[in-house]
Amino acid sequence: MIIAIDGPAASGKSTTSRGVATRMGITYLDTGAMYRAITLGLMEHGVSFKALGSITEFLDTVNIYFGDSNSGNKIFLNDRSVTDQIRSSTVTEKVSEVSAINVVRDSMVQIQREIADNTDCVLEGRDIGTVVFPNADFKFFLVAGLEIRALRRQKDLNKIGEKKTIDEIKADIRLRDELDTNRDNSPLLKAKDAIEIDTGLLTVDEQIDKIVSIIKQ
Ligand code: C5P
Repeated sequence: MIIAIDGPAASGKSTTSRGVATRMGITYLDTGAMYRAITLGLMEHGVSFKALGSITEFLDTVNIYFGDSNSGNKIFLNDRSVTDQIRSSTVTEKVSEVSAINVVRDSMVQIQREIADNTDCVLEGRDIGTVVFPNADFKFFLVAGLEIRALRRQKDLNKIGEKKTIDEIKADIRLRDELDTNRDNSPLLKAKDAIEIDTGLLTVDEQIDKIVSIIKQ
């Protein structure tokens, strides 16, 4: 079974998707974390986002995978946990540029399909219901007002010791959504058959309950 959960930045996808996967006892795949990890890797290796040859070389040699630990779901880049680093503002500011590159998307989508083809999975992202798994069993599209999304993002940043004003965060979110929505390859888009849920009106438990009850119906 494939459950696709898409939506704009900070719309509550991660918390909800992780909760749905835990409740249902199935795999959770955070595809945004993969684009973030590639962005971090390219930056660390000083690869220009315009250098398609070097990007392809990097993608051919890099190893990205998820693993569990006592503190939760971790993402590894060449056997190093980059779980916290990928949430930094430096990565967030660049990730939309990197995720618009065709070779990056081709490579990430291939890994996502390989993981989810063999297991029941909740995948969260921007293009899961439209491109990665257009025949997903269930598709949800999460939305929320800008103010509430900015407050959520500020909490996440506080956890990793970064401080930004709500206005700065709102501007970041707006820009990222605009880039993700307007790119040519796999833009952020609600699938025609996706069920829209406004997470600004619900608690986390209510969001999870709503999705799980639709699936179980
Ligand atoms: O979900 P998250 O905010 O971590 O995603 C980071 C970025 O990764 C998004 O802004 C988008 O540019 C990219 N992304 C994507 N396709 C996905 C998931 C994320 O392009 N399926």
